[in-house]
Amino acid sequence: MQCTPLERTVRSHKNSTLERVPLLPANSMSLKFVEVSPAKRYEENRALLDALEQLFPIRFCTGNVAPDACLLFQEAEFSEGGKGGAPTLVVATAGQTAPQRARITFGSDPAIHPAFRGQILSDTIRLSEQSGTAGPQTVLASVDGAPSWSNQGNRSWTCVFPLPLKTTERLLHRFSGSNWFELLPLLHFLHALTADTRWKPASLKACFVLDDLNLHATGYGYVDFRELAHHAAALNYHVAFATVPLDLWYARRSAIALVREHSRHLSLIVHGNDHTRTELYGSRSDEQIDRLLSQAVRRVEAFESHSGLHVGRLMVAPRGACSLSVLAAACERAASKAP
Ligand SMILES: [Zn+2]
Repeated sequence: MQCTPLERTVRSHKNSTLERVPLLPANSMSLKFVEVSPAKRYEENRALLDALEQLFPIRFCTGNVAPDACLLFQEAEFSEGGKGGAPTLVVATAGQTAPQRARITFGSDPAIHPAFRGQILSDTIRLSEQSGTAGPQTVLASVDGAPSWSNQGNRSWTCVFPLPLKTTERLLHRFSGSNWFELLPLLHFLHALTADTRWKPASLKACFVLDDLNLHATGYGYVDFRELAHHAAALNYHVAFATVPLDLWYARRSAIALVREHSRHLSLIVHGNDHTRTELYGSRSDEQIDRLLSQAVRRVEAFESHSGLHVGRLMVAPRGACSLSVLAAACERAASKAP
């Protein structure tokens, strides 16, 4: 599947549908091309690479004469790779182990995303027997003490790579609470590669979250909503009312009007469902979790339709406690609503 710069653009357009590329900038000139080598790896990982093309302004291809970057699978020893000094991620794939629980220790290099930098975390991964580094590289992460992700200049090496994505799966299945490290080096690589083309995140704004508030009156406990709105407007901050869906059965008109009038500084988000003890943390079956989340959504939607107010789809866990299984179910639910 050789492609020249013109052909690769045509090919990328041919393969694209509106559904596949909703997040890409309109200007296709900002697309970057990542050559996958050997070509059979491109075909094997097609679904995964297609999904990543929706996240980043990139196109994966094979046989490109002048790619912007290279994704190079090496089945033997680590070695130099890539073309003409293009940024390259070298993936070792020989002799991958069975999935096993492992401890991952991240280094302190600025190249590592701040969310992971210096952290010690665990994950279930398959590791290549090529674990180790080639030459004087900076170790970005070690697995059970062995260097497994490193870089030097614009080249990175990794001993982990996710399994091919099945057509029925989403990218979420390769980057979830119990399976995330195998995809991380590739995500980092693409993130750095497209740093000059992506949107700059907005600066951090202040938002206070007050738990348990509802709109049964124009105040709750010691909080007077009108006074709070004026204070927030004067100092330009925002307050989100984490409201319990059970309480949304009723809302006083004056309270609805007040939140609507001050929507720049006051808004509603979700706080559990019934706010019972360990509501999002206790041991529950998948069916029970699904019923709980479904009821919370129904209550929120009913409130929105009769009040005209929007409730942000952000869950604040009662007492700050939420299990991984509830998080996973909520992520699945959000992903199924995504375009
Ligand atoms: Zn609460």
